[in-house]
Amino acid sequence: MGRIWYAWLVLAVLALSCAPAGARAANAPAPATAGAASAPFCFVGTKPSVSAAAALSAPLDWDCSNHRPGIEAKRTQLRFEIAPDSDQPRYFTSRRTAMKGIEIATRDAAGVVRTAYYREEELIPAHLDATFLAPLPRGEAPLREAVVAVDLPTQAILLTRAQLAQGDPGDSPEGRARLLFLAALCGMMVMPIFFSVAFYRVLRKDFVLWHAALIVSLLAQMLVNSGLLIDLISLRADTMSALMILAFGASMGAGSMFARSYLEPDKLHPALRQALLVIAIASFAASTVHGLFPHVLRTVQADIYYAIHTPVLVVMLVVAWDSLRRGSRAAKFMVAGWVPLFMVGAIRIIGQVTPFMAPTDAMGLFQFAMVFDVFATALGVADRFLIIRRQRDRARNEAYIAEQLAGHDSLTGLLNRRAVEGRFGQLQRDGFHTLAVLDLDRFKDINDRFGHQLGDSVLVACARALDLAEDRDSVAVRLGGEEFMVLLRGSDTQHRVEAFRRAIPLRIARDVPALDRPVTASMGVVAMPPEGLEGMDFAELYARADQLLYEAKASGRNRAMWEKLVVFGAGRSLPVRASAAA
Ligand code: GH3
Ligand code: MG
Ligand code: MG
Repeated sequence: MGRIWYAWLVLAVLALSCAPAGARAANAPAPATAGAASAPFCFVGTKPSVSAAAALSAPLDWDCSNHRPGIEAKRTQLRFEIAPDSDQPRYFTSRRTAMKGIEIATRDAAGVVRTAYYREEELIPAHLDATFLAPLPRGEAPLREAVVAVDLPTQAILLTRAQLAQGDPGDSPEGRARLLFLAALCGMMVMPIFFSVAFYRVLRKDFVLWHAALIVSLLAQMLVNSGLLIDLISLRADTMSALMILAFGASMGAGSMFARSYLEPDKLHPALRQALLVIAIASFAASTVHGLFPHVLRTVQADIYYAIHTPVLVVMLVVAWDSLRRGSRAAKFMVAGWVPLFMVGAIRIIGQVTPFMAPTDAMGLFQFAMVFDVFATALGVADRFLIIRRQRDRARNEAYIAEQLAGHDSLTGLLNRRAVEGRFGQLQRDGFHTLAVLDLDRFKDINDRFGHQLGDSVLVACARALDLAEDRDSVAVRLGGEEFMVLLRGSDTQHRVEAFRRAIPLRIARDVPALDRPVTASMGVVAMPPEGLEGMDFAELYARADQLLYEAKASGRNRAMWEKLVVFGAGRSLPVRASAAA
């Protein structure tokens, strides 16, 4: 427990110390890959009326200091110089985030200026890093300069990650390899969904369903921000931007609800369990509003969105701390899954709220973190499933044993009167038509002379004489005290039950050698006709057998009295009497 906690703490500290570095990395131009040509740019905020072509020619107050461009201006112009010896770019590209549109003006080596305008929905969604592509207007001559005017950006990352590129990053060999890898990860994320559904069929617990919901939303995020979704269905860049935020909110909501239902009942403070519900709703609602209506508070909306997620992250940290502190086994799996996500969250929030840092979404780490979380929580769910199942099996076993005990006599292990009374109808249908009541002779005397403990041994020995494990045609019962009952079915029950009675003194003599005299038994037996007796219940038959037993005692003990019930006409019986003495 302690070790897990410290490992987690170290990772969290690492995450926080990595965050500024991650955010700084976003400031630097992205490394050139086979598909992308990086170009450092200058920027200036202008009125919407200043066209990109005008910005290309007019002397504007360009900021080339590599500072973070803000999104306060309604139109931000980005100016790229294209070196004559560099690979010719074909697209303008950046992170898919909401905006109104992009105007591009290019100047080629011959001095020709061309312009193009793309509304947000006309941009081409690209693969890998949640980017879009806007084709650069061009002719035969190589391009020398480009100005990109971005209208109403909603997130600074759109400007800080702006680049000129040669194509979709997913089209390069490295890009294809990464996409294939991400697609394989998506495939792997599907498996735990099936497990969850299978678990739910066995174990109807909410956390199993929330886990499935969490995986589905994480999978949706993977498909959207890797661009793999556009290979499955054609979607516009603006839809993809909205989906990314909606899927993020769904993951936060499902993740919080999962934690709420998954952590063991006594392993989380009730107030924190309530707080998880609040952050689930808050994050889901904030993401839905932010994803669907990104322009309402355009310049500050992203800041508000991140500000809302700061307490969300704090609640999750406190939940992790509290549940681990209380020794929750489930929390170890959950928190392990959260660590990389916490790192991403920390990097994003720090990048967004620190004025001198460029915002970043740490996309590569985020993709890894989502898959990691799916597997850590899937292991946790499987672990919890096994524990709950084991507990349930044990409870079932205990209930079974309790039921058995309720039906059995604790001293001899024979069925008790209640058990046989409850099953008497079934026993009759099963052919048990002979009912014998046996009582040990002068048993009180044994207790008086040898003590109660030895008396108990005598009762156990008597039970052993009556209860033959391999005999499926007789049932032995302890009615109470030193009184027993044997039910028999099959042929020749008269001789078989008499054999039981005679076996009693032999067995007692063998098992309890301290006795100085044989302990015999008297017996009263009723034999019903093979077709059974309609309307005669246990109590009536027992009373008849008991009467016969009394007669056996009265006529000298150590003997049996018989009564054969014969049916005459409509179910009326006539006793035929017999007796057997030792
Ligand atoms: P009879 O031949 O007329 O049946 O004589 P008895 O002494 O067997 O008669 P009675 O039914 O009066 O005595 C039964 C005794 O069994 C009385 C009681 O102390 C004893 N007894 C009842 N239950 C238990 C038990 O669980 N353990 C022991 N050791 N004795 C028991
Ligand atoms: Mg007795
Ligand atoms: Mg008795």
